Amino acid sequence: MFWEKDIETIDRKSLEKYQLKLLKKAIDYAKNSRFYNRVFAEQKVSSDDINTIDDLKKIPFTTKQDLRNEFPDGFIAVDKSEIVRLHSSSGTTGQATAIYHTQRDLNIWTNLVARSLYMAGFRKTDIFQNMMGYGLFTGGLGLHYGAEKLGMLVIPASSGNSHRQIELMRNYKVTAVHIIPSFAFYLYKVFQELGFDPKKDTCLSKAVIGAEPHTEAMRQKIEELYGISAYNCYGLSEMNGPGVGFECEYKNGIHIWEDNYIVEIINPDTLEPTPEGEYGELVLTILNRRATPLFRYRTRDITRLIDSKNPCKCGRTHLRIDRIKGRSDDMFIFKGVNVFPQQIEKIIMETRELGNNYLIELSSENMIEKMVLKVEINPDAFHGSVEELEAVRKRLINRIKDEIWISPKVELVEYNSLPVSEGKAKRVIDNRKK
Ligand code: ADP
Ligand code: ZN
Repeated sequence: MFWEKDIETIDRKSLEKYQLKLLKKAIDYAKNSRFYNRVFAEQKVSSDDINTIDDLKKIPFTTKQDLRNEFPDGFIAVDKSEIVRLHSSSGTTGQATAIYHTQRDLNIWTNLVARSLYMAGFRKTDIFQNMMGYGLFTGGLGLHYGAEKLGMLVIPASSGNSHRQIELMRNYKVTAVHIIPSFAFYLYKVFQELGFDPKKDTCLSKAVIGAEPHTEAMRQKIEELYGISAYNCYGLSEMNGPGVGFECEYKNGIHIWEDNYIVEIINPDTLEPTPEGEYGELVLTILNRRATPLFRYRTRDITRLIDSKNPCKCGRTHLRIDRIKGRSDDMFIFKGVNVFPQQIEKIIMETRELGNNYLIELSSENMIEKMVLKVEINPDAFHGSVEELEAVRKRLINRIKDEIWISPKVELVEYNSLPVSEGKAKRVIDNRKK
């Protein structure tokens, strides 16, 4: 049941004590970095001022912009010769950011990934195909080492190349995969084109899905299409990558490994903590990484705590967060309303006649904002007439209007006609003038 029972089921009081010890140490180490040396001096704070977890508030938030400003080495807190790896974000939204790891850092991360996989029922007898990009992106190597540590046979398939993915799966009798949800749908189409049914023609039984926001309905669809159990894996390169949090067998929220992370959820406007159950921005402190310390890092991911007063049915005491509702960067404001693509996705998923790929295009003309939602039809569920198609379209508009008070222009498009990416799906194209 447990990878490390003592730490996974530790009582909250002892957990806090443990966190505090690590936090003080992390502050002492972080002084060696240019960035935190300056921050601690400005705030006049040292590890001696941190005597409860609440004292963490004496340290200001760190943002993605700070990482960019200090690129490439302002956060490094060890002698450079100790560093053995770097991962970096894609840099598509600005200057790239780099996170460095010592061997010790990597060992801790690897263990957390192994623990996560074990929690979700992955075992050394599994044959595991990792379909995440190997490279600067953490989903490849990060998961790879954890999966190996667990003892699975790991196939480093990397992303893309759908035909080869299917071939590998069938040749090696793969039982478990790591896959981006939007790619899982794309791959299913390819299975069909080749005349295969993944339920009958593979040995798959479980999957790690993550790396991009997705709805519960999307998970269930993936589970049905492939005949598997899919577990949500949350992480970001700034906090190592996959293995920050993971679902247990009960799939009732994502356990965040609090022996390595301190969790806060804040209102992004007031920066005050949000009350239990309310959505806010996830803020994380990594407790045990020497090369690149980060305190109170604003992830820009929107979530909420789940039932934090009670331990999970699985017996683990580590906090649970809800699935990520979206990234604050993905959220767009349309005619004054805050919209997350996942709100629209949820409705699309509930509409049987519609497929799984969609795109939201925003534009403005003469100061009037326009939203066009393009959705692929599901050819397995829709064989009707033009009138019936029109009825589906109208029903979709009405449901969206009910949910977010916006009526987009909806275009139902042919199956397979919208772009698919090998990495994270891009759901919104915003052509409005700033
Ligand atoms: P990038 O910032 O270039 O996308 P990362 O790989 O570090 O690089 O992306 C991490 C982000 O991916 C998270 O901050 C979050 O927005 C998203 N993400 C990762 N895992 C999940 C998940 N299970 N559910 C929803 N979003 C996720
Ligand atoms: Zn649990």
